Amino acid sequence: MSNFYHFDRLAKEPNLVHAVTKKSIGSPYEMSLALHTGEDNRDIVSNRWSVAKSILGLDSIDRCNFVVANQTHSDHVQIIDSDISLGWADRESAIADCDALITNHKNVILTILTADCVPILLYDPIREVVAAIHAGWRGTESQIVIKTIESMVHRFGSKPSDIVAVVAPAIGGCCYEVGEDVAEHFIEYTDAIEDVGDGKYMLDLPMINRLQLLSVGLTRENIQMSGICTSCSVNEFFSYRREQGCSGRFMSIIGMLS
Ligand SMILES: [Zn+2]
Repeated sequence: MSNFYHFDRLAKEPNLVHAVTKKSIGSPYEMSLALHTGEDNRDIVSNRWSVAKSILGLDSIDRCNFVVANQTHSDHVQIIDSDISLGWADRESAIADCDALITNHKNVILTILTADCVPILLYDPIREVVAAIHAGWRGTESQIVIKTIESMVHRFGSKPSDIVAVVAPAIGGCCYEVGEDVAEHFIEYTDAIEDVGDGKYMLDLPMINRLQLLSVGLTRENIQMSGICTSCSVNEFFSYRREQGCSGRFMSIIGMLS
């Protein structure tokens, strides 16, 4: 299987691996990678290994450890400094109540699962640190990308101007309609919210995350947007909204190899 989305900005970095998985018709659950949505776990774990083999190759896979968070729409950031797989082959060992993972360990592969929420991958090539973030509207409201950058600065001495960020496919301002209760949290982002009447608003969460990254010192050149809306591209990516509560999740992955 070689059914992945890659970012040019990260693909050129040596020893860095990254990918965003796509749906694969014919694979179990169309290649969903989530253990928490009720599918047969054996099939999902098999899908995960299939993805890992494709991205890393058989040579690297044995020395790599994979980390999955039990995502809760929180603003909790966890630094991973152990060399064991967590949450990969079972749900119980996943990082509890966490929506952003950071590591400077080589061969530790960080993952985020989404179907419309915004996945963001970070790489500091100077300090050699990677991060993977899940930002739905709650995580965006609580500025989890900023908190993750701050954690990289404090713990690893990262300079925001060195950090490369990519914003993976997520539901776009074209399709993400919200009510007043959600919109009221984002009123200050005038370019990312559009009043469409009847108390409804179109909200552009990828753009807001980009603005937050810029606000803490990332450069425009170092931020790459996929520009892909999961709802518009539902044949390629899972979309919780478009599929009216689908159980499928795709995975955004980043790690440094030794
Ligand atoms: Zn759309």
